[in-house]
Amino acid sequence: MEKILILPGDGIGPEVMGEVRRVIDWFGTNRGFQVTLDEDLVGGCAYDAHGAAISDAAMQKAHDADAVLLGAVGGPQWDNVAYEARPEAGLLRLRADLQLFANLRPAICFAALADASSLKRELVEGLDIMIVRELTGGVYFGEPRGIEELGNGQRRGVNTQVYETYEIERIARVAGDLAMKRGKRLASSEKRNVMESGLLWNEEVTRVISDEFPELELEHVLADNCAMQLVRNPKQYDVLVTDNLFGDILSDIAAMLTGSLGMLPSASLGAPDGDGARSKALYEPVHGSAPDIAGQGKANPIASIMSLAMALRYTFERGDDADLLENAVTAVLDKGIRTGDIMQADMQAVGTSGMGDAVLAALDELGAGA
Ligand code: NAD
Repeated sequence: MEKILILPGDGIGPEVMGEVRRVIDWFGTNRGFQVTLDEDLVGGCAYDAHGAAISDAAMQKAHDADAVLLGAVGGPQWDNVAYEARPEAGLLRLRADLQLFANLRPAICFAALADASSLKRELVEGLDIMIVRELTGGVYFGEPRGIEELGNGQRRGVNTQVYETYEIERIARVAGDLAMKRGKRLASSEKRNVMESGLLWNEEVTRVISDEFPELELEHVLADNCAMQLVRNPKQYDVLVTDNLFGDILSDIAAMLTGSLGMLPSASLGAPDGDGARSKALYEPVHGSAPDIAGQGKANPIASIMSLAMALRYTFERGDDADLLENAVTAVLDKGIRTGDIMQADMQAVGTSGMGDAVLAALDELGAGA
């Protein structure tokens, strides 16, 4: 039986994950998706209970699960806890221990929400980009790092951008696989004009794609140009692969194109275990714990529900069910049902559970027994 670990976390995390549970149950009842669900603590709530942002027992459950679904972590009440126990440390430990090196951030612009984008409707309507960000290497982890006293009243801050062949190869393969399942177009972004690590990135991506994915059309784009292109003509991209630092920035730019933080899912994947067995995988919304609206039943659960759709597609290989769930969300938006964050004039306002009800009703309409 498939195993899912749910880590609701802090703030609006438990509220939005409650709706995800209902959707999982719907797929169990109506589409034969049989899973064992377990739940544990992560973030500030785990710190309150155990003094650590994730316990060893919860980490073990994450290792044993086919997929981990996470809500969000953090909140002002934990602003002053020790650095190593801060809520985000739970996320970082999950990423590090499960070796989640590939972060998938789709930027999809639903037609019904195109006016919420900071760009003109015609530039973003129908947008569907997948950004693949390397997550465990590069300048955020490279050594040497630190701040040193120079003894003359000056200090020096150092971080090191470093990539090895295997790190570039494996992320290129994830991106190549995805591009083959989508529009067969891949763009790779770095700064080879000023960084040797960028030159290596460029050469290794070129080699892996030409050797292993000869059908793909591969384009290289400098990261600064890529930032401009994303706001000039974002629909020119299909799958975009890049390193940890540039991916951090470019995926946030792409996120803004879609209009709302409450709509954006993400997946972080690790290496496949042994003989083609499943990759470790963590699915989570891009948004945080939204302390300003936590506990009020106002949060938009769609980002978390779309994260479940990614889990259905990438971990459970239930592409039809993922399509069904995404179509249900599209239908709800087309009907004009909105949480506060995506509210527009003359639309029907709902809260968190109202949005969950609407998605379940759309699933009933579109897919029961299909
Ligand atoms: P945030 O994403 O929590 O909120 C930003 C704004 O968007 C807020 O006004 C919030 O109300 C709104 N918003 C976010 N998600 C929403 C949703 N689903 N529905 C409706 N409105 C939504 O970012 P922040 O305010 O910068 O951070 C708040 C806390 O979350 C901090 O403690 C931060 O460290 C943490 N955080 C956690 C993660 C994570 O768990 N992955 C990511 C970002 C921030």
